[in-house]
Amino acid sequence: MAATLLAFDDTDSPDGMCTTFLATLILKELEDYDLIGLPRLVRLNPNIPWKTRGNAAICLPLGEGRGDATVCGEIDGSPVRSFERGTPVLSSVMLDAAAKVLERVAEFECEKTNPGIVCTNRRPPPRMYWQTVRSVVELADVEACLAECGASWKKYKNGRGIIGAASAASWRPQDRTWEVIAYRDTSLVGTPRAIDPKSVVEMDRRTAHTFNNYDYEMKHVAITPASPCPVLFGIRGDSPEELLEARQMIRGEAPSSWLLFLTNQGTDDHILSRRIHELAPGMSVRISARVVRQASTIEGGHVIIRISDGDEVDAAFYEPSGSLRGVARKLVAGDHVIVFGSVREEPRTINVEKLQIVGLQEMRVKRSNPVCPSCSKRMGSMGAGQGYRCKVCGERMPASAAEAVTVPRGVTTGWYEPPVASRRHLYKPIRRMTRENINNLL
Ligand SMILES: [Zn+2]
Repeated sequence: MAATLLAFDDTDSPDGMCTTFLATLILKELEDYDLIGLPRLVRLNPNIPWKTRGNAAICLPLGEGRGDATVCGEIDGSPVRSFERGTPVLSSVMLDAAAKVLERVAEFECEKTNPGIVCTNRRPPPRMYWQTVRSVVELADVEACLAECGASWKKYKNGRGIIGAASAASWRPQDRTWEVIAYRDTSLVGTPRAIDPKSVVEMDRRTAHTFNNYDYEMKHVAITPASPCPVLFGIRGDSPEELLEARQMIRGEAPSSWLLFLTNQGTDDHILSRRIHELAPGMSVRISARVVRQASTIEGGHVIIRISDGDEVDAAFYEPSGSLRGVARKLVAGDHVIVFGSVREEPRTINVEKLQIVGLQEMRVKRSNPVCPSCSKRMGSMGAGQGYRCKVCGERMPASAAEAVTVPRGVTTGWYEPPVASRRHLYKPIRRMTRENINNLL
């Protein structure tokens, strides 16, 4: 391998430190090493109960750089360079240096913060990533796997941070995106972020490959986090070059540092295609099914539809899914849908995060009785479902002969998604699903 992988996870708490910021601190402290490629920001299973804020892990490929280098960040006024190629170094020395930084800043007092740090010259097998992004992995299995790779590691408290760290190291990007993250001056952390919303809308309109910048439905800036962490803003997209330009379009508070990450955000890597009988709590799934009956609205404005692929389950559209609920209300029995969402334990429902309407049932209502084919008079009904009889000549016609009109459904086939603010990090936006070709261009 061309670099030594330094990976860490679970250093943040719901209201303080941020694992991506630790990346800048470690890069600053470990300045003797070069970055080989980009820092990696890897999001893991969003459904595990003990996760800290965003369930993010970081992997820094470090070593002795060779070949061309490009600027991929700036930390306290000094540029960060990313080398095309490199050679690995002694990982145990690197581990100790990084551990010192982590121990200085991690929020150990938070119950949910259980840091872990891994250093390896051999990338752990890909299954480690896929298991961790889609299900729950045992600490003992991860440690056995790391030992096999000849990795060195340090764990703190319950040690679960090792799992995310090892997974970030094992990630081999298939689909991938980039995020440029700008950090605040330390003295400002905790104060409101001064970002001009107009500049965010402008950036959104002037860039072709960024996503989740601005929530037009909620009129809300989506590039700034809600928590009091050191992040000023993060812009996500499909083109690293464009992200570097996008960063400079944002007006307001000046960042003290910034860094470009390669990430698995916006890829739907956590989603598994499953049949309804295979569902288990905590899974994120894609299900192709028919609507069994019309939507019902329950307390709190949540909308429930019953779906079936032979087995049945309720699909729930909660209040934060915004206009998606209005779409769900228009569905009727027989409509073919593909729902994306996570499986809730109690009550057993799919919490819908994205919807594709594949086929809509034609809805017809009776307008009038049929006209007699023999004497052209309007026929009379013989009772519900009994068909029609002509009062003049006695001709009979079946119930299906009634004249009917097609009722507009008020919804069309296609993709539907929730407002930007209620999307999770791994959520693949529809604009990425319908322009897959962009990945092939890069
Ligand atoms: Zn007749």
